Amino acid sequence: MEAKTLTDLQTLVSLCKRRGFIFQSSEIYGGLNSCWDYGPLGADFKFNVKMSWWKAMTRRLDIVGLDAAILMHPMVWKASGHVDGFTDPLCDCKSCKTRFRQDTAPTKDGKTVCPNCASLDVTEPRNFNLMFKTYMGPVEEGASIVYLRPETAQGIFVNFENVQTSMRKKIPFGIAQIGKSFRNEITPGNFTFRTREFEQMEMQYFVKPGSDMEWFEKWKETRLQHYDRLGFKKSSLRFKEHGPKELAHYARAAFDVQYEFPFGWQELEGIHNRGDFDLTQHSKFSGKKLEYFDEPTKEKFVPYVIETAVGCDRLCLALLCNAYTEEKVTKATEKTEGGNGAPKDAEAAADIRIVLKLKPEIAPVQLAFLPLSKKPDLQELAHKLRDDFAQNWRVDYDESASIGKRYRRQDEIGTPLCATIDFDSLVDKKVTVRHRDSMTQDRIDISQLEAYLAEKMKTF
Ligand code: ATP
Repeated sequence: MEAKTLTDLQTLVSLCKRRGFIFQSSEIYGGLNSCWDYGPLGADFKFNVKMSWWKAMTRRLDIVGLDAAILMHPMVWKASGHVDGFTDPLCDCKSCKTRFRQDTAPTKDGKTVCPNCASLDVTEPRNFNLMFKTYMGPVEEGASIVYLRPETAQGIFVNFENVQTSMRKKIPFGIAQIGKSFRNEITPGNFTFRTREFEQMEMQYFVKPGSDMEWFEKWKETRLQHYDRLGFKKSSLRFKEHGPKELAHYARAAFDVQYEFPFGWQELEGIHNRGDFDLTQHSKFSGKKLEYFDEPTKEKFVPYVIETAVGCDRLCLALLCNAYTEEKVTKATEKTEGGNGAPKDAEAAADIRIVLKLKPEIAPVQLAFLPLSKKPDLQELAHKLRDDFAQNWRVDYDESASIGKRYRRQDEIGTPLCATIDFDSLVDKKVTVRHRDSMTQDRIDISQLEAYLAEKMKTF
C-alpha cells in the first residue's frame, strides 16, 4: 500500500472545514483574521488532547492543577516584564505600506528590506507591545486598564504560596494549568499555528537551586515521552537550544521542542529554566516574600522554576499534520472478506483513501456503529449498541450511503474501529469490526465486544 503524508497545509485546512474540525471565526461576516472556531469534531479532539496533557501532569503526586483568571492585576505584567519588554520591533514600508516585523525581515548590506516588495525605503523600527488592553469597570480611562493575559504562567507564579501552603506541597513540586492566552501578533498565520487567541498548557516545576539543571534534563525527557505516546514519529521532532542571543535575559537554559510542519521546522513547546526570576520579581513588586522553607534543613530559599509550555492549538495542528495520510488502495490490499454476511467488496469504490492516523486516546470518535442497511431491525440493534457503548467510549452512528463510503468517512476523521451490524447479527449476536489502519475485519460476539475494544485500541 503506497502512503503519502501531508505536504501542503491547505489540504488539511480543507479537511478540517469539510469534516467539522476547524472553521474560520465569524466566517459569515468574511472571517476574523487569525481566529478559529473548533467544530464538533475539533472540539472533542482538542478536549482529548488537553485531557491527555492534564493527566500526564496532574496524575503525578508531585504536580497539582490550577485554573487562574485571564484578567489579572495590572502590576503582574509590570513585574513580569511584559509591559516594558513584551514587544516586537515593527517597521512600515513606505513604498507598499506593508507593516512587518523587523527581526524576521530580510536584510541587505545591513539594511532592512520589505518582505513584500523588497524596497529599502522602510521606517525605523518602533516597539509594539503584543498585549491586548481592555478596561475594567464602566470608565475607559488609564487607571482602569487591564490586559488579557499573554501567557498562563503568571497565574501560577502569583499563586505559588496559596498552592504550596493549601496543598502542603514539598519541593520539588509543580503546578499545571490550561487556559486561554492572547497576543496581538503582527504576523499570525499558517492556519492555527500562530493566532491571536490561543490556549496554552503550561507547567511550572519549583525546585531547589542547584538541582535545576538535573530537573531541566528530566523534563526534556518526560515531555518527549508524552509526544511519543501521542503518536509523533521520532524523526519529526527535534530539540533546538536557544543560543545566547535568543535566550531571555533571566533564563538559565532554554530548549524548544520543534516539529517538522509542512511549512518547516517550528517551535511546538518551550522548556525553560527560569531560575528565581519570576518569584523574585513578584516579591519585589507585591512586597510579599515568596520563599520556601525547607523543614528538614531549616533552609529558606526562593525556588528555581523549570517550565514546560506548549500551545494546545499548535499541538492539535501538529497532531493533525502527523496523522494525515493518503493511501493508494488496490483491491489486493483491501481485506473485504469479513465473517458471516460481512460486506464483501465494501471498500472497492475509491482507490485513494484519506486516513487520520490518530491514537484512540485523542481521536474524536473511537468507534462507529454502522447498520448494513436501513432495515428497522438493524437500526434498532445498532442504536442499542451505540447507546450502551456511549457509556465508556466516544461513539458514532451512521446509516447513510454505502458501507464503503461510511468506512471512508470514518477513516477521514480518524475513527480507529467500525462495527457493522448485518442480518446475521440479529441471529448470531455478532458484529464485524473493521480496523482503520489495516482494514482487516474480525467477527466478534457482542458479549465480548467491550473486552475486544479495550485490547484492540492498544494496537494503534
Ligand atoms: P513564538 O516564538 O512562536 O512566538 P514563543 O517562544 O513566544 O513563541 P512561548 O511564549 O514560549 O512562545 O509560548 C509557549 C508556547 O505557546 C509556544 O511554544 C507555542 O506552542 C504556544 N504559542 C505561543 N504563541 C502562540 C500563538 N500566537 N499562537 C498559537 N500558539 C502560540
